[in-house]
Amino acid sequence: MNLHEYQAKELFAQAGIPIPKGKVARTPEEAYQIASELGQTVVVKAQVHTGGRGKAGGVKLAQTPEEAKEKASVILGMDIKGYIVEKVLVTEAADITSEAYLSVTLDRESKMPVIIASPAGGIEIEEVAKQNPEKVLKLRVNPLTGLLPYHSRQVSGFLYADKNIRKQAETILKKLYALYFQADLTLAEINPLVVTKKGELIALDAKVTIDDNALVRHPEFEKYKEFFGAEKIEEEAKKAGLSFVKLDGSIGCIVNGAGLAMATMDLVKFYGGRPANFLDIGGSSNPEKVIAAMKIILADPNVKAICFNIFGGITRGDDVATGIVKAVNTLKPKVPIAIRLVGTNEDLAKEILSKVNLNVFSSMTEVVKKAIELSKAA
Ligand code: GDP
Ligand code: MN
Repeated sequence: MNLHEYQAKELFAQAGIPIPKGKVARTPEEAYQIASELGQTVVVKAQVHTGGRGKAGGVKLAQTPEEAKEKASVILGMDIKGYIVEKVLVTEAADITSEAYLSVTLDRESKMPVIIASPAGGIEIEEVAKQNPEKVLKLRVNPLTGLLPYHSRQVSGFLYADKNIRKQAETILKKLYALYFQADLTLAEINPLVVTKKGELIALDAKVTIDDNALVRHPEFEKYKEFFGAEKIEEEAKKAGLSFVKLDGSIGCIVNGAGLAMATMDLVKFYGGRPANFLDIGGSSNPEKVIAAMKIILADPNVKAICFNIFGGITRGDDVATGIVKAVNTLKPKVPIAIRLVGTNEDLAKEILSKVNLNVFSSMTEVVKKAIELSKAA
């Protein structure tokens, strides 16, 4: 899970890493308010889950609160690489003498955290690594020993000549590494890490990625969860106990079991159709789950036909059939439905389904072919 800069900076502040003062605004008026509280030149920065905001025009200086309001109204609503800006960070502007890069991230190859540092900050580190590889230092840290003093000295010496600034860099690295470890991050990045005219080191930008698999250990990060586009539907499905992945075809698939769901998608492709989704309603499917699944699938305007493929083992066919009948009666879908239902309580299920006028099959090949045919007729 990626955090916004202002959220990452909250974590930095808690960890004791120096950051410029600032607050998040959702309207130009809020930006005005924050800028007047700060009482100095500010930077208005788009808060979106992508880098290169500066280049895209999403980072602007403002001398006065009026100007901050103006800049915020330009940036709010802006489209940066497909992300619409809904929030801006209004933060103290810094007088910069140099920009460096410093991060701790996961090196999957060595299975160790790695520190990456470069005196050429403010630009994408991938670019620096390509153009000037000698300007990038990579230092692996054994997770058993943790960060050792020589790591910090090597990094600070690589970045800075001044002794006082080196000391500050060592302290920041220690705190960044501790945060990386304690918060279960896969990335803690400062780009740029700047030296101000007063000779202070501060994190001017912050990027944090939290390991999704560790989120169960961090209820405090719950508030950072945000969903965009298809993620919203996937989250809704998760709450209903369904595994759902949106795809861009036209055949909505409702299947029990992940393996059968994959096989159904393969068969749809094999017969010349394209699945609109992966959807596994799970083992013991109660009728409510079927209704939730239908709702989610019907919300996708690309869906031209629905293909049910149910193999009753633990799943009882009559439960699924009851769910389908209920869903058809309440949702009144306009798209045609083809059903294959076999296994536990199959006869009972077919009797229930006979009450509504649907295409019911026993063969997987037949149902898939029918769904594709129906989708083309629609
Ligand atoms: P990014 O483009 O998304 O990485 O956003 P950053 O926060 O890194 O800002 C991009 C660039 O804008 C930085 O590398 C700086 O050169 C510049 N910048 C950002 N904040 C300030 C500031 O407070 N003062 C000055 N002088 N420049 C800034
Ligand atoms: Mn940056």
